[in-house]
Amino acid sequence: MTSPTGAALIARALHELGIKVIFGLVGIPVVQIAEEAIALGIRFIAFRNEQAASYAATAYAYLTGRPGVCLVVGGPGVLHAMAGIGNASANAFPFLLLAGSSETHLVTKGAFQEMDAISLLSPHTKISIRSSLDSIPESITNAYKTAWYGRGGPSFIDLPADVIQGEGENSGAYVVPDPPKAASDPDKIRKVAQLIKSAKAPLVIVGKGAAYAQAEVVIRELIDQTKIPFLPTPMGKGVLPDSHPSNTATARSTALKGADVVLILGARLNWILHFGDNPKWNSAVQICQVDISGEELGRNNGDAALGMIGDIKVVTSQLVAALGGWQYNTSTPFVKALKASAEKNEAKAAKTAKVDKIPMTYARTFDVIKETIHRLSPPEDGSVVYVSEGANTMDISRSAFPVEHPRLRLDAGTYATMGVGLGYAIAAHAAYNLPSPEASSGPKASRKKIVCLEGDSAFGFSLAEVETMARYGMDTLIFVINNGGVYHGDSEDSDKWLQMQKNTIEGKANGGLRSSSLGWEVRYEKVAEMGGGKGYLARTPGELAKATEEGFKATVPVVVNVIIEAGAAQKLEFAWQNNSKKTKKES
Ligand code: ADP
Repeated sequence: MTSPTGAALIARALHELGIKVIFGLVGIPVVQIAEEAIALGIRFIAFRNEQAASYAATAYAYLTGRPGVCLVVGGPGVLHAMAGIGNASANAFPFLLLAGSSETHLVTKGAFQEMDAISLLSPHTKISIRSSLDSIPESITNAYKTAWYGRGGPSFIDLPADVIQGEGENSGAYVVPDPPKAASDPDKIRKVAQLIKSAKAPLVIVGKGAAYAQAEVVIRELIDQTKIPFLPTPMGKGVLPDSHPSNTATARSTALKGADVVLILGARLNWILHFGDNPKWNSAVQICQVDISGEELGRNNGDAALGMIGDIKVVTSQLVAALGGWQYNTSTPFVKALKASAEKNEAKAAKTAKVDKIPMTYARTFDVIKETIHRLSPPEDGSVVYVSEGANTMDISRSAFPVEHPRLRLDAGTYATMGVGLGYAIAAHAAYNLPSPEASSGPKASRKKIVCLEGDSAFGFSLAEVETMARYGMDTLIFVINNGGVYHGDSEDSDKWLQMQKNTIEGKANGGLRSSSLGWEVRYEKVAEMGGGKGYLARTPGELAKATEEGFKATVPVVVNVIIEAGAAQKLEFAWQNNSKKTKKES
C-alpha cells in the first residue's frame, strides 16, 4: 500500500475539521490539495483572483460562525490573498489561509514563486506556521482553532512544495469543538444593571459581533423585556428586525447625542461609532461594553470600569436576569425626541424616494428595486441577502432596504474595503444555498436570493467573478449603480465627458478626466453575458422594475446596469467619518 501524499493528508485534516467549502485559486502544486479535497466531498470554489477568494472566505466565516478557508499558490497568490488577511483582522472574522511555497531546499535560490510569506504575514495574523510533512494535522488544527477561538482573526499556513508532494504517514484525526463561551464577573453585571435602571436615556447598540455570535434570541429578549431603544450598526442590522418598535435607526444622531447610558453589544468605538466622542455623543455618556476581547474595553471613549468581558449570548442573558423584569419608562423626553426625529427623517426619505427624474437619483433607484423585490419576497420571509458596497451606494442603500433577520446584509465593513462585494455574494451563496444532503431532504425555505448593490467603481474591482458565479450556477442579482465615477461622475453629459477624455489624451493639464472619473455609461451588463448570465440596461423606473423582476426570477447571474444621475452625490458630505464636521444625514 502506498503512503498518502502531503496533499492527501492536508485535505484529510481539513475534512476532519468539518470544512465544507474552500475558496481559492489553484496552481502548481496546491492544485493537488484542491483535488484531494474535492475527492473527499469538500466544495472547492475556484475564483479568478485570490483577492476575491480571500474576501469570500472571510464573509463565509461571518455568516456561518466558523473559520472560512482559502487556498492559494505561493508568492503572488499570497500577496493577492493578503487582502483577506487585512479584512479578517479588521473585521474580527476567523479566516484560515493556506498557501503553497517553493521547495524548502530551494529557498534563497530564486525558486518558483519563492517568498518568505511567514515573515510577511506574522505581524498581521494570530498565528503563521510553516508545516512539515509530519506536522500537517497539528499545524492545520492549531491554525484553524487559533483563528476561531477568542476574537476571530486570520491564521496562515505555509505549505512547501516538498510537503505537498511528499509521502507521509496517516495520523490521528483532530476535532476542534465550538469555542467555549465565557460569562462575565457577576459584580460587574449587577453594577451595569443598576446603572441601566437609573438611566434617563438608555440605548443599546447592536453590532456585527452580535450577528457573528448568533445572539439574536437573547438580545430580542433583552429589548422586548426592557423596551430600551436600540440602534444597529450597518452590519448589526437584522439581529433585531428593522421593523421592531424600539429600533431608532432613523433617529441615529438624536439617539447617540441624547443617550446617557449606552450598552454596546458586539461593536467597537471606532470610526463607525465616531469613537464614542462628543459632539456626536453626549459628553456625559456612560458606556457599558460587552466584548469577547478584553483589550477592546475602555478603548477611545469607552469606560473600562463598565466593560464586561465575555460572550455576548451569555453576558446578555446575565444582564436580562440581573435586570429582573425591569422596564424602561418610555414616556421620557428622550423617547419623544427619538420619535420626532424618526418621523421627520422617514417622511423626508419617503418624499425623496419618489422624486422622478431621468437619469434617476440614488433614492429613486433603490425605491424601485426595493418595491419590486418586496412584492416578490416580503422582507419578513428573510429570503434575500443584500451585499452592498461603493461609498454612496452602500451609504444610501443602507436605510433604503429593511432587514428583518440576522446576517442578511453584508457591506464593506470595518476596513471600508471596496471590492469585497462579489466575493461576499459568492460566500453568501455558499453559506445559504449549496445543496447538502440535509438541505435536499428538508424544506427549501432557507434558500436565499443574493442581491448585490454595487457602485460602478466597487464592481470594477472583481467583475471577473461574475464568470465564477455563472460557472457554479449562482443566480446572483447584481445592480451596478452607474454614475460614471468614484463617488460621483465628473461630467453631466457624454459630449462634455468626450471633451474631457480628448483633453487627457492630448496631454492638456486642465479640463481632462479627474482621478475619480470612470468611463461614460460603461456597459457593465455585458459582463453577465460572457458566462451565460443575463444583462439589462435600465435608465427609467419602468425599465428598472422590469429588469429587477426578471433578474430576481432568473436562474443565472444577472447584471442590471442602472444609469443614474452623474454627479448626483457631489453634494453629499462624508462627515460621518469625521467628528469635527457636521453630519450629512441620519443613516
Ligand atoms: P460593527 O462593525 O458592527 O461596529 P465591530 O466589528 O466593530 O462591529 O465589533 C464587533 C465586536 O464584537 C468585536 O470587538 C469583537 O471582539 C466582538 N465579538 C465578536 N464575537 C463576540 C462574542 N461571541 N462575544 C462577545 N463579543 C464578540
